[in-house]
Amino acid sequence: MLGQVKGWERMRCTKGCRWLRWLGTMERMLPACYAPFSITSYYHRDADNTPLEVVVALLRLGTKYDFKGLRRDVILQILKYYPMSLCEFETAVDDHYALFGTTRRACNFPLFAEALATNTAVLLPSLFFACSDYEIPDIFEDAKCLTRDLISKLLVRRERIVLAKAQLVSTDLPECLREKPCNSSCRKEEFCLKNAFYSGSRASCTQSLLQMSGRWMVKKYLRGACESCESVVMKFVDSRRQKVWDDIPCYSLLPSWEELRRELGAMTWY
Ligand SMILES: [Zn+2]
Repeated sequence: MLGQVKGWERMRCTKGCRWLRWLGTMERMLPACYAPFSITSYYHRDADNTPLEVVVALLRLGTKYDFKGLRRDVILQILKYYPMSLCEFETAVDDHYALFGTTRRACNFPLFAEALATNTAVLLPSLFFACSDYEIPDIFEDAKCLTRDLISKLLVRRERIVLAKAQLVSTDLPECLREKPCNSSCRKEEFCLKNAFYSGSRASCTQSLLQMSGRWMVKKYLRGACESCESVVMKFVDSRRQKVWDDIPCYSLLPSWEELRRELGAMTWY
């Protein structure tokens, strides 16, 4: 398996890499070899420059031979760049970040394909999101390592996120925001949100969910509201956006984030 990984030869010949390459030629002996040696002595899960091919191969290896510690380390390494919470994902590295010997964007689909192949549920929702948060032509361009069937499934599930994003800032403010609450700080004679409206917001659903913070959406699309009322709408949009994120595992037919976090927590006991 490891010997078949393209780009393997590009690896620098450090002691650890030579050892890993040797493993590639000895795949049938791996279960026996693993006990006396520790692959984790040579593989460092905090290294951004581990080649993508190695990350992918180690996930496959750890899963195939049930090397729990190795599998856990690779999963934690990937989750560092594809975290499970919206807040962490927003502050994680961007598409152009140099990761695993390439860019983070170039890692999206190969990692997603491997997470599917190894049935690694804890990685799937965030990788699914990372792969689907683009325009369709970009997805076709990047998804060459997926089968047509998987691309179709990805696009069908992506539609659910697009629809949910479209409802974040629909053409009209929701009725629940039109009534002035008793704790409102609005000083306008007539409550702003009674007549405030969104302008040009239909285009917003083509944007990344990561861009669609309450602040960004309100400043870009809301018209006719004072600062205090804007702040109310920002919080409302942020809570809806969080709901879209919370539903991503459901869109991709996976267990909830909470269940996946429990699964990850159990994994870290190894
Ligand atoms: Zn106001």
